[in-house]
Amino acid sequence: MKKRVFSGARPTGRQHIGNYLGAIQNYVSLQEDYDCIYCIVDIHALTTLEDTGNLQENTYEMMLDWLAAGLDPEKSILFVQSHIPEVMELHTLLSMVTPLGWLLRVPTFKEKARMQPHNVNYGLVGYPVLMTADIVLYKAEVVPVGEDQLPHLELAREIARRFNFIFGDTFPEPQAKLTTFPLVIGLDGVLKMSKSYNNYIELAATPEETLERVMTAVTDPARRYRTDPGHPEVCNIFRLHHYFNPGRVEEITSQCRSAGIGCVDCKTLLACGINTVLAPFRERRAVLANKPNYVVEVLAEGVHRAQVIAKGTLEEVKEKIGLLKRPFPEKVYD
Ligand code: SF4
Repeated sequence: MKKRVFSGARPTGRQHIGNYLGAIQNYVSLQEDYDCIYCIVDIHALTTLEDTGNLQENTYEMMLDWLAAGLDPEKSILFVQSHIPEVMELHTLLSMVTPLGWLLRVPTFKEKARMQPHNVNYGLVGYPVLMTADIVLYKAEVVPVGEDQLPHLELAREIARRFNFIFGDTFPEPQAKLTTFPLVIGLDGVLKMSKSYNNYIELAATPEETLERVMTAVTDPARRYRTDPGHPEVCNIFRLHHYFNPGRVEEITSQCRSAGIGCVDCKTLLACGINTVLAPFRERRAVLANKPNYVVEVLAEGVHRAQVIAKGTLEEVKEKIGLLKRPFPEKVYD
């Protein structure tokens, strides 16, 4: 039997090439060897999001990108976190076995509290407990993570272990599947590609938009004139050629060093590479976007399959804790 993988990502809307290279490609390939559950974690987003105006659209657009990129609802369970109320219930129950000290010393909590001192909300502290609930509700055994997320997963394992110790074996301790996500640097050449830094290229951009975005990218700052020899090792356009024009890296290296190619031509080449690699994705996305209700149907099927697992786990958890079973059928009092 295949092991079960769980992973979630916040609803950030249309995905960019950093998301694609860093996570989505990996999600797609895991589908072959694991029983995968992928979730858009919209409740997590509320811990830092103050304006929820775009939440619905961002969730929809992100799922459309996931599907167009190859996440297959026949192979994976795809759904939205808030559609499974059981996760909030399990979060509350797990919070009773999680010492506050464990949560207060999480480095990302301290960092976020520093970044949003006006909004250090209760959800921000409890974030790792909700993350644990996400994973253990589906009894996932494997969680794909980057090295920076290992402390979070370790905390999830500790919470699961503590619950098991107090109430008896219930959850598998989720194992990290360390994945070397390439750190994709944005068009500014300095920061990680991100919507927050406006240094990204959307997967679903048109070829013209892609070219326009690539042209804004920072290159080798020492190359001021077309005749100046370049230093590809400091240039982010060059790094991106590794993904989108892997067969031309050597040629670009020597052309750049000898000033045989200018940055405008080099960027045009990169934009062509991106457009070629992403053409099948873009075609598929357009087809799916034209199917009325396709995303909604995928999410409906996903939530149904996820909830069957979630209800079973929650029932077991309540029984282990010793909560009085809910009377059924319910008596209605006037
Ligand atoms: Fe970068 Fe290409 Fe310009 Fe060299 S020629 S500095 S690799 S954009």
